[in-house]
Amino acid sequence: MQGYIININNVKDEDLIVSILTKNNFYTTYRFYGARHSIINIGYKIDFELETNMKSSIARLKDVLQISYPWIMDSSKLYCWQRFTKLFYPHLKDVEIIEDFYFNLLDELAHKMIKQNPKRAIIESYVKLCEHEGRLHTEYECLLCEEEIENDISLVRSFLPTHKKCSYSKAFKLSQIKELFEDKSLINFNDDEVEYIWNILLQGL
Ligand SMILES: [Zn+2]
Repeated sequence: MQGYIININNVKDEDLIVSILTKNNFYTTYRFYGARHSIINIGYKIDFELETNMKSSIARLKDVLQISYPWIMDSSKLYCWQRFTKLFYPHLKDVEIIEDFYFNLLDELAHKMIKQNPKRAIIESYVKLCEHEGRLHTEYECLLCEEEIENDISLVRSFLPTHKKCSYSKAFKLSQIKELFEDKSLINFNDDEVEYIWNILLQGL
């Protein structure tokens, strides 16, 4: 089975609780300390087996193989990737039925990051996630005053649109945000603007 590691907790004697997102499931597993420890890391894609035991409610993670990314040695890409994949844990941990959308989105994103700037690729994927979950606000109404936004637009957590004057945050041109939301493109955003949007994303999916 294949999955993405989206959370790791240390428990006694360097054993780990490892949470894994697969195509249709979310597993919380137990990993005994072993020599091949380094292949367990946030964001890593792994092939693995689970061993269930009558004595324990939590499955044991075993036969772990890392499925590497072409950019795995690029520390800035890996850093961004790990920050993003980590956000899936609070977002999905209580969801009962996991759709394959999330796994497929990460697969597609890992591939896009071979050529693309990681923050740009991740933000564009995140917009797809919001759209999939039906919470991408393309009616461009302000979250705070509920009036239509006609010119300057600001985004707050979860990319919710607001007026600049209502949220006191950085303004973008409405056309830029429309292009991001509707075409999933950051082509007209400069690097500072991408950095700003990236920091909104890090507040949580
Ligand atoms: Zn407003």
